[in-house]
Amino acid sequence: MNALTATSRNFKNAAKLLGLDSKLEKSLLIPFREIKVECTIPKDDGTLASFIGFRVQHDNARGPMKGGIRYHPEVDPDEVNALAQLMTWKTAVANVPYGGAKGGIGCTPGELSLSELERLTRVFTQKIHDLIGVYIDVPAPDMGTNPQTMAWILDEYSKFHGYSPAVVTGKPIDLGGSLGREAATGRGVLFATQALLEDYGKSISDQRFIIQGFGNVGSWAAQLISEVGGKVVAVSDVSGAVKNNNGLDIAKLVRYSLENRGVNGFDGGEALDPKSLLTEDCDVLVPAALGGVINRENANDIRAKFIIEAANHPTDPEADEILSKKGVVILPDILANSGGVTVSYFEWVQNIQGFLWDEEKVNSELKAYMTKGFKNVKEMCRTHNCDLRMGAFTLGVNRVARSTVLRGWEA
Ligand code: GLU
Repeated sequence: MNALTATSRNFKNAAKLLGLDSKLEKSLLIPFREIKVECTIPKDDGTLASFIGFRVQHDNARGPMKGGIRYHPEVDPDEVNALAQLMTWKTAVANVPYGGAKGGIGCTPGELSLSELERLTRVFTQKIHDLIGVYIDVPAPDMGTNPQTMAWILDEYSKFHGYSPAVVTGKPIDLGGSLGREAATGRGVLFATQALLEDYGKSISDQRFIIQGFGNVGSWAAQLISEVGGKVVAVSDVSGAVKNNNGLDIAKLVRYSLENRGVNGFDGGEALDPKSLLTEDCDVLVPAALGGVINRENANDIRAKFIIEAANHPTDPEADEILSKKGVVILPDILANSGGVTVSYFEWVQNIQGFLWDEEKVNSELKAYMTKGFKNVKEMCRTHNCDLRMGAFTLGVNRVARSTVLRGWEA
């Protein structure tokens, strides 16, 4: 199912549970502003290359809009729209004072040189600089982008508006980035998983995990889970998949994948067909890559008892139904991966205060936010007699709706 249809369906189900007025429901669904720009750069060989860049600003009722910028060949307007909408509900679930946005450029970053990526990022920033800002819309890294990308956006933006470190988060530490931001999404996944398992009388150390995706989110989640005794039995990335029923040595795998640009060929386990990874035997499945990977084709074959959505919208609503009938418990993306945007908020606060927090404070505040988020979602589950996804959606949508009504519509 198309990502926007899927996300909007979840929103509409939550609106129904909350009994939202249909006019308010419509206004919450329509994005605040959709930006589409042409970005042409000279390549290193002198030829021209044109790309399309998007920034969808979905809602700003609770504060400046917030969300990542993704560089990926599959970036398309509907997907960016869905991801922007998810950010609105995610920031509300996390209870950070932001709205939601998302951006992207349709490109294959691995095929561009560093200087081509820099030119592309600068051209994109030139096209959108008037529409972003510290109190307007604050980008961050996402798939295919990183702290260096944020440094270029900051530099280009500052040429027009003066030095403004808080205009982006996920920056390099040397430019005002926060300690702990790099690992934050993975660490948030750890805290959310701990809260969920505890609720079921279980703990990470008695569970076997499978993690799909070994980029920033997947590799940090794997490391932190294995550090507290969780057994990671299989991992995949774009290069391949590797499995070891006795548990993979994650520290070794991280070093291997950095040196070899992927997990493929790692000798601490057997190679596995990445297509069968999701349906391998485990207790907890952690999709940490692309959207839509759990769908009606494979949902029946999933053997995990828990799914932690470290990726954005990895589970299709049709798969949701199948999995819920099977009794699989899903911790939804807008809660499970909200650690990234939560520490982005801490970074923004530090920039505005001009005061740096130590890493211990960042991590302990993150734990408090994730635990509170889980508790608040559970309360909504009890109120509306619903699963965790609807608990999270009703929590997020209700907070945004309340702010919207309080601000009013009078011209
Ligand atoms: N790209 C991340 C997400 O999808 C982080 C966004 C942010 O920090 O603004 O949540």
